[in-house]
Amino acid sequence: MSNKTFVITVPHATCVDAPQHRIMHTCDYIASDVATALGQFIQQCGMDKVFYGNINRGETDLNRREGRDTRFRQKVREHLKPGTILVDVHSYPSYSFNYGDYDVALIGDNERIKKTLKSKLERHGYKVGTFTTNSIDDILLEARDRGVTDSVLVEVNEKHVNDVKNISRILSEGLCEVV
Ligand SMILES: [Zn+2]
Repeated sequence: MSNKTFVITVPHATCVDAPQHRIMHTCDYIASDVATALGQFIQQCGMDKVFYGNINRGETDLNRREGRDTRFRQKVREHLKPGTILVDVHSYPSYSFNYGDYDVALIGDNERIKKTLKSKLERHGYKVGTFTTNSIDDILLEARDRGVTDSVLVEVNEKHVNDVKNISRILSEGLCEVV
């Protein structure tokens, strides 16, 4: 077994049970389940550190610059160093303007990771979109500043709520292969 450390973050884990939050999608409804399953599967090739955001996005967006001073981001930061692998996990509604046509979207600067995960997922019939790092995805940006070169932001379509384990398993296999 390798001694790789996988830092798995879910900045939008905390939901608020109010109608306007559902309409605005201020939390990622299945991201925590994806991250939990991914953390378990990834143990086949490394150590998992999973961090769930504890503040609703409507209050402070933990994946933005404004969230850097929070306890969540401080805890994540302690593990962002060269050699660790960052997997930032999100989910989106099927009506998403950006990703709605896809089952999974992969975002980041590491083409090798995106390519490997994409082909693995596609082999299992999932439609995958790949994108470069968005200038507001602050956890990815901070990781890059701290020398983390192996990173990816994973967006899972919430229509796959019953498929979380399968997608997480495929992601873990791809990550174990590539890093
Ligand atoms: Zn999100």
